[in-house]
Amino acid sequence: MKIFIAGLATETNTFSPIPTGWAGFKDGRIWFRNDGSRHPAVSGNVPLITWRRLAEADGHEVAESLCTFAQPAGTTLKHVYEGLRDMLLDDLRQAGPVDVVLLFMHGAMVAHGYDDCEGDTLARVREVVGPGVKIGIELDLHCHLTELMRTSADAIITYKEYPHIDMAERAEELYALCTRAARGEVNPVTAYHDCRMISMWRTPQEPMKSFVARMQALEGKDGILSVSFGHGFPWGDVEEVGAKMVVIADGDVSKAEALAKTLGEEVWAMREATSTRHDTIDEGIDHALAGTGGPMVLADVADNAGGGAPSDNTAILRRLVDRGVKGAVIGCFWDPQSVAFCQEAGEGANFLLRIGGKCGPSSGDPVDLMVTVRKVENDFFQTGLSGGRASFGPSAWVSADGIDIVLTSKRQQTFAPDAFTGLGITLEDKALVVVKSTQHFHAAFAPVAREIRYVAAPGAIPPDYANIPFTKRTRPFWPRVADPFSASNSL
Ligand SMILES: [Zn+2]
Repeated sequence: MKIFIAGLATETNTFSPIPTGWAGFKDGRIWFRNDGSRHPAVSGNVPLITWRRLAEADGHEVAESLCTFAQPAGTTLKHVYEGLRDMLLDDLRQAGPVDVVLLFMHGAMVAHGYDDCEGDTLARVREVVGPGVKIGIELDLHCHLTELMRTSADAIITYKEYPHIDMAERAEELYALCTRAARGEVNPVTAYHDCRMISMWRTPQEPMKSFVARMQALEGKDGILSVSFGHGFPWGDVEEVGAKMVVIADGDVSKAEALAKTLGEEVWAMREATSTRHDTIDEGIDHALAGTGGPMVLADVADNAGGGAPSDNTAILRRLVDRGVKGAVIGCFWDPQSVAFCQEAGEGANFLLRIGGKCGPSSGDPVDLMVTVRKVENDFFQTGLSGGRASFGPSAWVSADGIDIVLTSKRQQTFAPDAFTGLGITLEDKALVVVKSTQHFHAAFAPVAREIRYVAAPGAIPPDYANIPFTKRTRPFWPRVADPFSASNSL
């Protein structure tokens, strides 16, 4: 068997002020052509590494194309998306006849002129390979599941976990499903159920933890091949934005539809129990100051670079300064200009530094602070979500009157405590650690946090799902309406 593998991914926040161009991919998390699966694991190549390992163990031939993942940001430039897609398609034609195509894409990539980059790529791949070849795609669960994707692919599998700790497991399942289909052992057919919901779901917490286990328990029996819950990515202004269940059955589409509906109704029934409580900034600070025994971790979810935000919003920093809070750590601010000033001034220098607030209205106003430069690193890393190293580029630790601040040159959410401790900041003696991340921080911070809370500060991805200014979604959704399944509701 000959298996074609490729990865082309970014998550597009259509409300982000940051354009995604060639540099977003080539200088992003990962950029390879033909050999991405042969490099150490980072979050963008884990599926390809998995597919190559399995295929070679089974004695199959592997043809590999692109492997790239741009840091989430604003809409991708049209010619950049088309250039990347056409590289992939050229490689597919060059590979000659193949039996299986396995793609790793995000599922929420938007380019100018293309609201559904994944559907467009899948449809063109189908044109190249014809109807008999099995096409499988692994997606982030923060995806817009479209009809074009469903009708172009034989199998769609999304991550089940948020934080996304299960990329490799889902890649294994997709490989098994598509190679079995290519051998004629199974006939995958896919159904969606539109949950009519826009929200975020955190899978380490109940009741989602049990729901993930339930999805897994349904797979591999009674004619059900795979179950995924596509949470959706709320900050994409596209028609298909929102949560959907995906069920793949063996030849029986009505069985797939029935289970997708049942599970979708379970998600609907859990809507209040699975909603995250968000503090105001002052509530979050008050909780941190009231407790003892290690730091409280407060997630600045609205300024998460992983959702396309600039990661330089100053609202929480401003409040910490104004309240005179001591023993707080905050990061990581994407502020290459400030880092350059710190590099120039050197460790130990004291000067008035303008921090953050630089990218647009969602960043807030800059904060001017008399800082001490405590540490400068010219090539700073943190531990990434999949265990590899995730680059911050040149970075600095500055302190100002009891507040420690991390400034970086590469925009990236805070995944792990070494984003702070790697520069020499201690956490155990602090009352509050503010992380610019929505959920991926949870895996590595939970062991060191006294408590984890979420704050609704201003930013590019505010968790106010009812009021995201969509222009393309025409169907009603919760929480904008109380019951989007009622016939009397409209937007
Ligand atoms: Zn995601």
